[in-house]
Amino acid sequence: MSQYYPQETVRNYNMRSAPQLTPKGHNEATCLEYGLLKVPYEMLNRKFRTTIKRLGKPMIAINNLSNSIESAIPRSNQPLPIAKINDKYRGLTKKVEEFASSFQDSIEAEIEIAKVLESRAEYLNKGVNGDEQDIDYFRRQRVCRLLVDHLLRIGYFETAQKLVDYTAIEPYTNQEVFQVAKQVEESLKRQDLSICLQWIADNRSKLHRLNSIFETEVHVQYAVELVKQEKRKEALEYAQKYLQNLGMKEWKGNVLTLMTVIGAGPFPGDTYRKLLSDDRWTELIEMFRAENARIFNISTLSPFSACLQLGICAHKTPYCTENENSRCIVCKELFDFSLGLPYAHINVSRLICPYNGEVIDESNVPMMLPNGQVYGENSIHELKRGDEIYDPNSDQHFALRDVKRVYIL
Ligand SMILES: [Zn+2]
Repeated sequence: MSQYYPQETVRNYNMRSAPQLTPKGHNEATCLEYGLLKVPYEMLNRKFRTTIKRLGKPMIAINNLSNSIESAIPRSNQPLPIAKINDKYRGLTKKVEEFASSFQDSIEAEIEIAKVLESRAEYLNKGVNGDEQDIDYFRRQRVCRLLVDHLLRIGYFETAQKLVDYTAIEPYTNQEVFQVAKQVEESLKRQDLSICLQWIADNRSKLHRLNSIFETEVHVQYAVELVKQEKRKEALEYAQKYLQNLGMKEWKGNVLTLMTVIGAGPFPGDTYRKLLSDDRWTELIEMFRAENARIFNISTLSPFSACLQLGICAHKTPYCTENENSRCIVCKELFDFSLGLPYAHINVSRLICPYNGEVIDESNVPMMLPNGQVYGENSIHELKRGDEIYDPNSDQHFALRDVKRVYIL
């Protein structure tokens, strides 16, 4: 999906004017909790912009009515055209009342989102800077929050909801964003573009700022569907209406392919076949997911997935192979997930006792049985039966005096 991402712009923040905040546990909170604050912030930002747009039209109407009342008042000592002014004044009062009600609704909606943002900031602050109990609770909840976030991203909405209900973490999940995404994805799966086009209309200014090509691709698909129904004339009209504002540089790829298909009908060749194939719907769903993530500034790789990969890397060694009897978590259960991931860089090997899983070191020295099996000294105490020692690995018994201390150089 990298082709849909323009080069990330580097933002220069003036750090000198920023307050010096150095929270404890800064690293994990800033890495993993970005979406917790970023999503409500983006929602507030969007609400603020739509409010300005929504209030703009009635403002213009109020200004026009005020001006027309002013111009209806005669300058000289002539009598006032009371009936005329009365009508205009009534119209003005109505518009002002509408404006006030719309203003109140918008402000209330903004305050509601601001409160969500505030409560999340408090929650995060408590989880990072609070007492031991708060931090422990926050960390246990975080696993569930990350899991819910991952489930929502991959479209497992019902499973995510069950986990949210079970753990009571609803105020700290971004379900609303993903619920809308669910509706769009489901409509795309049904090969219906209406909900997707509505989503584009709601997010057009943000998509435009991100230099997104998603809207163009959706219009191309709409025209392609018309071609498939043998409605090439309608497809041409649609393309003329919705693609006419494209810049010269945007006349490439699927847009050009569409023009050929409209002109000549289904054409031989992979490029044309690809555009007309049903796989395009899957491609649109993937593009939509990426754009939705970009709009809310959330990374495409979920924090849960990043944590899981990091954990697997920490355990993975060059000697790992698939083996269900192994005590290594990668060999035993996670080998398929570990494919393609790098190994952890470990300078000093650690020896783990195969019996009780304790580290073998100077306080738990390694001891070897006559058959070559090595255990930590603590396990030897647990496994001895009188003068004998029992080896659970080979199911054999040996004389205790034959157990030798092993020295590692
Ligand atoms: Zn392994």
